[in-house]
Amino acid sequence: MTKLFVICGHGAGDPGACANGYQEAERVRALGKRIKELGGNNVMLGDVNRNYYADNGISSLTISKDYQIVELHMDSAAATARGAHVIIKGGLNPDKYDTALAKFVSGMFPGRSVTISKRGDLANPARAYAKGYGYRLIECGFISNAEDVKVFNGGIDKLAKGILECFGIKETKPVLSKPQIKPTAAKPKPTTPKKQTVTLPKTAKEWRVYKTNIAPIIGNECGKLKPSKFGGLTYEILAKPQKDVVTIQTQDYGKVNIYVGKGTGAIIK
Ligand SMILES: [Zn+2]
Repeated sequence: MTKLFVICGHGAGDPGACANGYQEAERVRALGKRIKELGGNNVMLGDVNRNYYADNGISSLTISKDYQIVELHMDSAAATARGAHVIIKGGLNPDKYDTALAKFVSGMFPGRSVTISKRGDLANPARAYAKGYGYRLIECGFISNAEDVKVFNGGIDKLAKGILECFGIKETKPVLSKPQIKPTAAKPKPTTPKKQTVTLPKTAKEWRVYKTNIAPIIGNECGKLKPSKFGGLTYEILAKPQKDVVTIQTQDYGKVNIYVGKGTGAIIK
């Protein structure tokens, strides 16, 4: 599998060409980083803090010859000049990568009639050749042309993927972490209605109680509570079987119903 070594042009204080509010060195680094991100382990990104041209970094490269080198630049000229192209060392024939790249980048940045230029005057193509590395430089459109800059800025991912494809490198899918077993959401506490109480006031001498299976009407009572004797009596309401009737637990009569309608003086809280 072909691997890619990416050199981002200029840098280390050399901004490269500057136009339309952008610097070449910064833009090609943004692109280089995306190529690395998308290409994963098949891509090695050269130190972006270096200027490989100025420090002759290619001559001291020790990477395997499986790597193909791509050096990223943007062109600069009159504002009307447009188009991308690939540069290889003079005297060499373009290889399959060069041909694929020229086709791709000139499709994205049209405007040049010659899409593969052979140059005998550039240091890095010659250095790479001397070391035995496959090498090409891409001028990714003109930074001096507003439209090319727009295409570049809006298409960094497309550019990165396209360049990778020219080397047969597929986009690395982000590794999905194993589905996490979500901690079961704490069950919402059953909203227990706030416990209510009924207070039979101390002013009430007697309060009829009824068995829970009997209609709570006078005459059906099974006993009487004596609130006044105890300074009032308060019970927890266990149930509200019908309007104005509550179920309470008493000491003397067990679970009973009492009538607590308006006018009885019973206080429900
Ligand atoms: Zn440049």
